[in-house]
Parts: sequence; structure tokens; C-alpha cells
Amino acid sequence: MIRAITTQKLEVFYMENIIDNEKVNLVAELIKESKHTVVLTGAGVSTGSGIADFRTPGTGIWEKVDPFKVTSITAFKENPQRFYHFYLPRIEMLTRVFPNTAHEAIARLEEMGYAKYLITQNIDNLHRRAGSKKIIEVHGTLREAVCRRCEKIIASELLIEKIEKSEEKIPYCECGGVFKPNVVLFGEMLPDLDGAIYQSMRADLMLIIGSSLQVSPVNILPQYCLDRGGKLIIVNFMSTHLDYLAEVAVKEDVCDFLPAVIEVLRRK
Ligand code: ZN
Repeated sequence: MIRAITTQKLEVFYMENIIDNEKVNLVAELIKESKHTVVLTGAGVSTGSGIADFRTPGTGIWEKVDPFKVTSITAFKENPQRFYHFYLPRIEMLTRVFPNTAHEAIARLEEMGYAKYLITQNIDNLHRRAGSKKIIEVHGTLREAVCRRCEKIIASELLIEKIEKSEEKIPYCECGGVFKPNVVLFGEMLPDLDGAIYQSMRADLMLIIGSSLQVSPVNILPQYCLDRGGKLIIVNFMSTHLDYLAEVAVKEDVCDFLPAVIEVLRRK
């Protein structure tokens, strides 16, 4: 379940110097001054929930397969059975994970009126489950599936049921079409890139969380913010190519750092 954010816990962090107090205050200050903060998140937000970046070959369930080959749109059309053989465990896994304190902190930023929009490349639905509402999911979501023929949308729970009940292990729609997870597969267009670009252009502050800014389109969006005079804050374990342009670049655990920022904003 979601770890509670307690003042006591924060004091422990400060005492042990786990969190850079100065950076916490600076980030909180920048958020407070901003008129249109947009949050941009990547896989690093969900690692604290136990989700590995499944697009990275050589990790977890993809160890023996090339995800580009089995989960591309071409592979789906050619052999939906094989596609679901690899994809179903991923969908089922999401029923066993929970939002973490980073997801929760990001949802609080929206609730408190600071974050105007959230752009995420994560398809795990954890932002929504944590309470974020204004979300652009640039890679789609595993929360639901869409019929390739009539575009009917069903929840992923029903998708799982359909696959399990089907002899061929293929989820068919009443119209005869096949349901596809409502995510962007390799080889497909991004559904809401325009919306993400628009919000990036409007942002006077972009808070980039848990992304190494290597995957398109999250790697291009900060530039739209910078071009219009916006500022960047980057919270990520690894360095990114934009760290030198950021007001603050923080290399801490997002699950600890973001709740600390929320706590400071609450006190102000
Ligand atoms: Zn259909």
C-alpha cells in the first residue's frame, strides 16, 4: 500500500542527511513561484512500486525475447496469440502492484493546485490510481484494451478474462475483431503527442521525474518548455543530457525526495 508521509519520517531523513534539505526547499520554492507547472514522468517513478522498465531488453520477463519483435504492431497483427503469451503476464502483474509515495506526491501537487498537467510515458496506470486526474499518457495505458475493428474499449480485467476463456488465447470482440491493449506498440503513432507538446509549451516550470530523457517523446518535450523561457527541475537517479540546463538536478530516490517537497509546500 501507499507509504504514509509523516513528519517524523522526514526528520529522520534530515538527521541522517539522506535528503538534501537545500534542494528540497529550492524545488518547493520554484514550484510555488510557478504559474503553470507541468510534471513529466518516466519509468523511474514506478520502479519504487516494483515495476521494471519492460522496454529495456535483458530485464525480467523479456530476458529471452526481443520486445521489439514480439510486441510490435506488426507482431500483434501477425500473431496475437504469441503477442499475448508475452504481454498477458505484464497486464496481470499490474493488478498486484500499488502506487508509491512518488505517485502520491505528484497527485498531491495537482490537488494543491501546483501541477496543471501530468505527462507520462508510463502505461501502468499508477498515476491515476494515486489520484492524478489531468494526465496525458503519451504511450497509452494498460488499464484498457481497444478493439482493432470497431474501436470498442474494455477494461483490462475483462481482457484478461476473455484471453483465459478463449481456446486460442486470443481476446475477440463481438464484432469479430481482436482487442489490443490501449498502449502504443513499437511501430505505432503516439496518440496525444500534440497535447503533450502544447502543455510543454505552456509550462513555465517543468518538473521531470524518473526519466533519463532517452526515450522519445519525453526527451524532446523539455525543449519546448525551455524555448519559451520555462525552467526545468530534474529528479532522477541518473544524469540526463539536460541536467546542465536545469535550475536544479536532483539525484535522489524520487520516493523520498518528492514527499519531502510536498511537506515543505504544506508548511508554507
Ligand atoms: Zn469490435
